[in-house]
Amino acid sequence: MTDRPNLLFIMSDDHAAHAISAYGSRINETPNLDRIAARGMRFDRAYCTNSICAPSRAAILTGTYNHVNGVTTLDTPLDNTLWTFPQALRDAGVQTALFGKWHLGHGPDADPAGFDRWRVLPGQGHYHNPVFIDSEAGIDEVGGYVTDLITDDCLEWLDGRNPDRPFALFCHHKAPHRTWEPDAAHFTMYDDVEIPFPDTFRDDLVGRAEVVQAVRMRMMDLDPVTDLKSTVPDGLTLDEEIDWRYQRYIKDYLRVVASIDDNVGRLLDRLDQLGIADNTIVVYTSDQGFFLGDHGWFDKRLMYEESLMMPLLIQYPDVVKAGSTCDEIVVNVDFCRTLMDLMDVEVPAEVQGRSFRPLLEGEGVDDWPTSMYYRYWMHNDGAHACPAHYGVRTRTHKLIGYYNDPLDQPGARGPSNPMEWELFDLVNDPLEVNNLFGRPEVEQVTADLLVELARLQQSVGDEPYRVAER
Ligand code: CA
Repeated sequence: MTDRPNLLFIMSDDHAAHAISAYGSRINETPNLDRIAARGMRFDRAYCTNSICAPSRAAILTGTYNHVNGVTTLDTPLDNTLWTFPQALRDAGVQTALFGKWHLGHGPDADPAGFDRWRVLPGQGHYHNPVFIDSEAGIDEVGGYVTDLITDDCLEWLDGRNPDRPFALFCHHKAPHRTWEPDAAHFTMYDDVEIPFPDTFRDDLVGRAEVVQAVRMRMMDLDPVTDLKSTVPDGLTLDEEIDWRYQRYIKDYLRVVASIDDNVGRLLDRLDQLGIADNTIVVYTSDQGFFLGDHGWFDKRLMYEESLMMPLLIQYPDVVKAGSTCDEIVVNVDFCRTLMDLMDVEVPAEVQGRSFRPLLEGEGVDDWPTSMYYRYWMHNDGAHACPAHYGVRTRTHKLIGYYNDPLDQPGARGPSNPMEWELFDLVNDPLEVNNLFGRPEVEQVTADLLVELARLQQSVGDEPYRVAER
């Protein structure tokens, strides 16, 4: 029991890896997140299996895909009687606590379960002076900035824990979720600079699926009041306005990221002060990635790299070599088995995914998966008009099938054939701007990817979309 490590699991909301300097960000610095990378391992191919908040969180907690745990969309709460790894840790005698964003429902059937103590934001919560739902105090309103307050709660709980028993502390930040509201300390950061534009900012989306061209995640879809907090200046051309919108958007995004970075530093410092850093697994991740102007978009949902990729930094000095990297494919469903493996807690056979502990220990694994399965279910949610789709990503290619049903989308630009496909060669086209699907030169690759997609779908217990079933 005394050998069991502690766990500090820090998860932010919509923090793209390309806004972390340890991942080579061209637009910001994150010195404290970089500390985790420098002391541990950076995963360069960590992917979510459904790029949206609640489903990714459910996949992490239960170690199952969304068709198994039932949380396929933002509107599907997590049944809190399901097995989760925090509950298993608690049953094994580990002290557990959750602070911050939950976003998996509220009430007797959906409140957080498996935590000795929890204090969470209702739904998305607010950046400034947020209300919390507290397992001890009920509805509780305190003044301050959300990222600071969540960290304060974590530090207070750490200080008050029983030092003779291991702990698992879940610090779930709201930031940097839309609507990107900075705190006073970072309010004017970047005021005097222009943030670089991404390479694909002017992507015209030619050749991509029609439903992808129609998603409403462009700079012009940002709300001037709630997202940009400004009126649009007079006299701008369309291109000038798009540029102006990007600067407004990305600066606020990076300002709230800066607050996360400061607060991660506070937590790391406390582990050092308490002398428990060597025996504590520190995870930094985000429920999924985000488009930071890439392809002209904000938001996530699509299976494109910027959205699919999760930052994943793991520090555990007793096991993980400092400054190491891993380019094997791991997915959010794998987190559960991995952490339980490291903490020596049994998981039921129904839990999916695979432990990547050997990768953390720097070992090569001969039969490690070379592909992953993705499915976004929240078809045409209205606001973002993003189509449901599924696909496969290998180490070299990506195949995406959009099963948009025109009958389901009145007025949408769906084709007469309800399935549209995209295929990207990620070696020669890492930015995903050339859809090769249907070209004769990729006939064999396409056939192989379709076989792999079907194999993955079967292996995780999911089924292909069929129009007739809807
Ligand atoms: Ca999210």
